[in-house]
Amino acid sequence: MLSDCLFCKIAAGEIPSEKVYEDGSVYAFRDINPQAPVHILVIPKQHVDSAAEISEENSALAARCFEAIAKIAAAEGLGSGFRVITNVGEDAGQTVRHLHFHLLGGVKMGEGLL
Ligand code: AMP
Ligand code: ZN
Repeated sequence: MLSDCLFCKIAAGEIPSEKVYEDGSVYAFRDINPQAPVHILVIPKQHVDSAAEISEENSALAARCFEAIAKIAAAEGLGSGFRVITNVGEDAGQTVRHLHFHLLGGVKMGEGLL
């Protein structure tokens, strides 16, 4: 855990969040500034800066996140579809330097973002 990392603190329960899912390696909570009717952040509990730091050594953490995403999407009733986004670095507008996957759904999304 990084002592100055917002999402490490959220995963550890030191900062409150609206939790939707948790297991041994993943924590998921509602985004404080939702961009869709369902907007959930899925993070590994272990600190990784971003998707640019995923390697052979830690890629299981990303796999665990996607296993959680499938479960959460089903639980949130997103059977008709959803979008997963991860921002990396300055050009993508990453504001929190702890790997997170935005799970967006509950609305018909256009092709604007992708
Ligand atoms: P990104 O811009 O990809 O780094 O996304 C960071 C996301 O974290 C943004 O969508 C913020 O709204 C969200 N966020 C920031 N602080 C909190 C918080 N305390 N609880 C929930 N979501 C947060
Ligand atoms: Zn962190």
